[in-house]
Amino acid sequence: MNNLKEYEEEIYKCSRCALCQSVCPVYKSSLNECAVSKGKFNMLNGVLNGDLKITAKLKKYLDLCTGCNACKDFCPSGIDVRKIFIAAKYEYYKNNKLPLLQKILLSYSFFCVVLKTASVFMKLYRFFKIGSFIKYFEKLLINSGFIGKYILLIDSLSKNVFYETTLKQVSGTKNKTALYFDGCFNKYLNPQTENAVKKILYDSDISLIKKDFGCCGISHLNDGNIEEFKKIVQNNLSKINTGFDYVLTDCASCRSVLKDYKSFFDSEAAKQFSDKTTSVAELIKGLNFEATKPCTVAIHKPCHEDFDFSGIVKNIKNTKYLEVEDYDKCCGFSGLFALKNPGVSKKISKSKALQYIKNNADFVLTTCPACILGLEQGFIEAGILSESRPKVLNLYVFLAQYCKVQE
Ligand code: SF4
Ligand code: SF4
Repeated sequence: MNNLKEYEEEIYKCSRCALCQSVCPVYKSSLNECAVSKGKFNMLNGVLNGDLKITAKLKKYLDLCTGCNACKDFCPSGIDVRKIFIAAKYEYYKNNKLPLLQKILLSYSFFCVVLKTASVFMKLYRFFKIGSFIKYFEKLLINSGFIGKYILLIDSLSKNVFYETTLKQVSGTKNKTALYFDGCFNKYLNPQTENAVKKILYDSDISLIKKDFGCCGISHLNDGNIEEFKKIVQNNLSKINTGFDYVLTDCASCRSVLKDYKSFFDSEAAKQFSDKTTSVAELIKGLNFEATKPCTVAIHKPCHEDFDFSGIVKNIKNTKYLEVEDYDKCCGFSGLFALKNPGVSKKISKSKALQYIKNNADFVLTTCPACILGLEQGFIEAGILSESRPKVLNLYVFLAQYCKVQE
């Protein structure tokens, strides 16, 4: 991990042209000049010159970023903003002694406790079918304040999942092995996604092996909390003790971080892990699917998805593909960003969700579970009841539940 100083030249490359303002979702929703790369580079210039320190207040401005990379793709100087912001936040953690409580709250161990608690909560929520009770109050909750809307957002997590039980794989008949990296979101909150992946790959030459991996570390990485991030990486690397052909993930965000493990650890294990990481979409790109009923489908491309899965969706027989404006723009959720900046996050999600309403899609398919929440958040913020909006689904759940593979 480079120090901020090592990015000095790149930061000085910023010409203040302000082109990034026209693509930054956070700037467009907040009109806060400190939110956009240009503003952040102004502050970081002050840090490099010794006029400013990275205090908690300055870090808050650095946190005003979804990490969508839109500005990097648009910047005439080609500045890799995300890496620079992470390096700057890392400086904050290195140079400030945090109170013990804050340290605990930011630790990976505490993060695991939160996820495990949320997992138990979701199991109980589904077991007692609380969603079927909530639906009678949807209209009331959607028009109420933020608590009602949060209840609906949690409720959306319990919907649109794949309930079929796991198909048993016949061991010893497959030539390739994939270590299945389900990521913390699917593992703890939507474990049914694994069943969908198994169903899609059932006839393939690949056997899935579960390794009890933890989180990929994206939240800690984006927060610049590199020491905790490294613990997460080490934990995941310690799980690979057998030969394998792939590390297979169903989450675009996990994929992007796993591919980067080798830049944090100079070891053969990290290199293998990163080089063999692939997504389910990449593996199934040669398969043809047919929807069991005619429907219209649109996609949302997560910011961290660098595999273009639109080809898979466009090829699904018996569906009509809708090209929705801004389908590849940030949904505004971005993990901790939604928690730290709820107002801005909801505004971005809402304008994004309205695009899908305009196009009247039956399904919106995506490859990142956090984006599913981002889109649901958008529909709720726009006051659109679930019966009048598209089903937002993980691509693999859609393929397993609503389609069959064509011979
Ligand atoms: S587009 Fe690039 S060069 Fe222009 S202001 Fe933004 S970061 Fe600086
Ligand atoms: S990465 Fe996205 S949110 Fe962050 S400054 Fe760039 S455009 Fe804005």
